[in-house]
Amino acid sequence: ATPTALLVGTGRGAQLGLLIKGPEVLESTRRVDTVVLDKTGTVTTGRMTLISVVASDEPLARRLVGAVESASEHPVAKAIAVGAFPPVTDFRNVEGLGVTGVVEGRTIVAGRPRLLDDHGLTVPPDLRRAFDDASAAGQTAVLAGWDGRARAMFAVADAVKPDSRAAVAELRRLGLTPVLLTGDNRTVAAAVAAEVGIGVGVGAGTDEVIAEVLPADKVDVVKRLQGEGRVVAMVGDGVNDAAALAQADLGLAMGTGTDAAIEASDLTLVRGDLTAAADAIRLSRRTLRVIK
Ligand code: ADP
Ligand code: MG
Repeated sequence: ATPTALLVGTGRGAQLGLLIKGPEVLESTRRVDTVVLDKTGTVTTGRMTLISVVASDEPLARRLVGAVESASEHPVAKAIAVGAFPPVTDFRNVEGLGVTGVVEGRTIVAGRPRLLDDHGLTVPPDLRRAFDDASAAGQTAVLAGWDGRARAMFAVADAVKPDSRAAVAELRRLGLTPVLLTGDNRTVAAAVAAEVGIGVGVGAGTDEVIAEVLPADKVDVVKRLQGEGRVVAMVGDGVNDAAALAQADLGLAMGTGTDAAIEASDLTLVRGDLTAAADAIRLSRRTLRVIK
């Protein structure tokens, strides 16, 4: 490869809104056959809003759970904690599962069912049903409880980015297999996947949608795919994506994402849209063709 031709590639990259760490990055995109896409903030906007609350005492649930979530930076928390809340003590963020804290003398647990289970809180059937219904609708459902059982369900959701579906189709046209990777639950993951055209069709869905993955385990998913002989690009935005972005053969960070993700990546998609990921791969192939 001649350095001049590669640099022409990076110049064109800048026009397309791609910040490339070095010309050699383009070479590693050549053999990529699999593109792992983080869900929240990558395929979806990451700006979540509160859709519904189910609780026998809704004002109490909003106050107590809002208070604990006000101490968290997670997109789910930002949707639940809108406004002013009483103080929280003993706040704890349980990575990929939820939060706990003490509000008005009660220990509040909010997050995935597993977190409530870990704290010995039972889930009454009506809340379980509310949780399942919200999940089936593609929303992220959060259970919250105190004093022995779950007492509220908060459903939040963000939207798929306008270009995500077209970008997935373009990645497929380039011969790449898209894989959706998320810490969110299977039902939500499947709903988002269907919306953007991942894992749809008979027999599909198992290898293309990987859900309920804890932040620390995302990197293992990339390693496993590489172990199958795949050459993997990973697109992500979060702190919890950084290790996977570094492990991938090509790491692409959303420019709208966290510094940790950007630093761990080879390439930054400045506008934060998925179309740029397809642009990056097409550009590198074209650049390499010019060189040959
Ligand atoms: P993603 O992979 O989609 O970026 P995370 O790994 O950060 O998601 O979180 C996975 C899941 O853990 C969320 O979908 C949510 O159900 C739960 N969760 C994480 N943080 C919180 C929080 N602050 N409050 C409630 N639930 C949370
Ligand atoms: Mg994310």
